[in-house]
Amino acid sequence: MRNHTLVLACALGLLSACQSDDKATEANQKPSSTEQKTTASAPKAVTSEVDKPQPATGDVTILDKYATFELTSDLSHLSDNQKAMIAVLIKAARIMDDLFWRQAFGEDKNRYLKSLGDESLRKAVEINYGPWDRLNGDAAFINGHRAKSLGAEFYPQDIQKSEIENTENADIKSLYTLVERDSQGQLIAVPYHEKYKDSLQQASDLLKQAAELAEDPGFKKYLSLRAEALITDDFKPSDLAWMDMKNNAIDVVIGPIETYEDQLFGYKAAYEAYVLIKDLAWSEKLAKFAAFLPQLQKELPVADAYKTETPGTDSDLNAYDAVYYAGHSNAGSKTIAINLPNDESVQLEKGTRRLQLKNVMQAKFEKILVPIADQVVAPEQRKHITFNAFFANTMFHEVAHGLGIKNTINDKGTVRTALKEHASPIEEGKADILGLYMVEKLHHMGELEEGELMDYYTTFMAGIFRSVRFGSSSAHGVANVLRFNYFADQGAFDYNETTGHYAVNPEKMTAAIASLSEKILKHQGDGDYQAISQWMNEKGQITPQLKKALDTINGAGIPVDVDFKQGPHKLDL
Ligand SMILES: [Zn+2]
Repeated sequence: MRNHTLVLACALGLLSACQSDDKATEANQKPSSTEQKTTASAPKAVTSEVDKPQPATGDVTILDKYATFELTSDLSHLSDNQKAMIAVLIKAARIMDDLFWRQAFGEDKNRYLKSLGDESLRKAVEINYGPWDRLNGDAAFINGHRAKSLGAEFYPQDIQKSEIENTENADIKSLYTLVERDSQGQLIAVPYHEKYKDSLQQASDLLKQAAELAEDPGFKKYLSLRAEALITDDFKPSDLAWMDMKNNAIDVVIGPIETYEDQLFGYKAAYEAYVLIKDLAWSEKLAKFAAFLPQLQKELPVADAYKTETPGTDSDLNAYDAVYYAGHSNAGSKTIAINLPNDESVQLEKGTRRLQLKNVMQAKFEKILVPIADQVVAPEQRKHITFNAFFANTMFHEVAHGLGIKNTINDKGTVRTALKEHASPIEEGKADILGLYMVEKLHHMGELEEGELMDYYTTFMAGIFRSVRFGSSSAHGVANVLRFNYFADQGAFDYNETTGHYAVNPEKMTAAIASLSEKILKHQGDGDYQAISQWMNEKGQITPQLKKALDTINGAGIPVDVDFKQGPHKLDL
């Protein structure tokens, strides 16, 4: 349900970690695919646990799925206190990392890692926080290892779903308890703050220490309240304080937050942390662009009836460099955007904050998008594949969720209700195309000076191939297939049969952006479920031509995700 809520909220533009990659999109192709991290689908390799005296063996090729990237950031604008604080926050994050190991794996991590004979195998286990491949449905890759439990280590291994469903003890279903059996075999709920008391006390003390070093009063308050929250499991006051912060140069997301690791019920929150440095220049630019939304709304290429709503301009959307990932956020595929808090009561009161992680996008750009472009984009256009364009396209996707229409114009209620299960892919498709429309407009207005329009177009085209890899079972995957086929039909890119390369045709691309924007906005405003079903049936499939490109990309051994080298030493702290 939680995942469902996220999709819904994302499509409503409340949450929009939308363009981001996460556990859902890149790796596991979950149907909902909100780019918030989820873990893999049901385990495949089921083998019984066998005691073996010799070192364990396994499949080390899963390391090929990851490209290594160093997490750094420019800290030159920070004071000595702020730098010292980052080091303290990283220490606290590492405690979250240990706690997540306990939630995901259960056994003694260090002893297990030592038992593995091979350095590559150890690395593979570390990336996955256990011997199960998070990019392949949690299949065990250590020979003979048991399958991963759907409920990870949050529940007894012998738990039956009905036991949880039938329980009258509400604490059993809490986000912040472990479920265990007492001596009579009855289920009991053990609060995280009891189970992990010592570790949480240490983390709490570190956050208090960080609060003393903090210069921004809002951040100081948040850190103090978060220190309390870790040892009480009462997170709301700190969530509210987090939403109140506006001017902090440093941020930290820390605690038990997402529930994707619990694939049995999605009840249990997993520990994680991100230590973040705000990108002040980009954050300022974003605020400036959001201010153009009302004007851009009026100029949308669709009849007036479909653009009567007034978009909000006070989006809490900022860019950051991540300098440390820990726990759930660091396991398997890496999120490039965060949208929090999850607490609906805080959302209603304060909204959510969207954090775009620029250096991690850079990682995916360099390690994944550029290699993809080298396979499928015409050589003469590869110079137009730029990080600036990739980042801008991603950011404008987020801003563009605010454009268009939320309510149908014919009394069918909200677009969301009228379009049912098609609502998410169509909303994501809208944000993609209107994001590009915004880029075009702002570029013509002279507001977006960096780069040529062709950079944005060509990088956008290459991005479609990257996103189609998410699979047609994800909202993003479907949106990208529809758009690819639409562009192909309109001649927005030329295909060379011999080389298999694609080249943008700028004039036709411009026309296709306008006509596709109109088509989507009309379908949304009309709440036309039938028309969209038909469109998806006819044009939502991967064509042989597109399949060929995907085969080329997959055959080239391009990594699926990134793994980080990180820590204080990478930041000269
Ligand atoms: Zn989105």
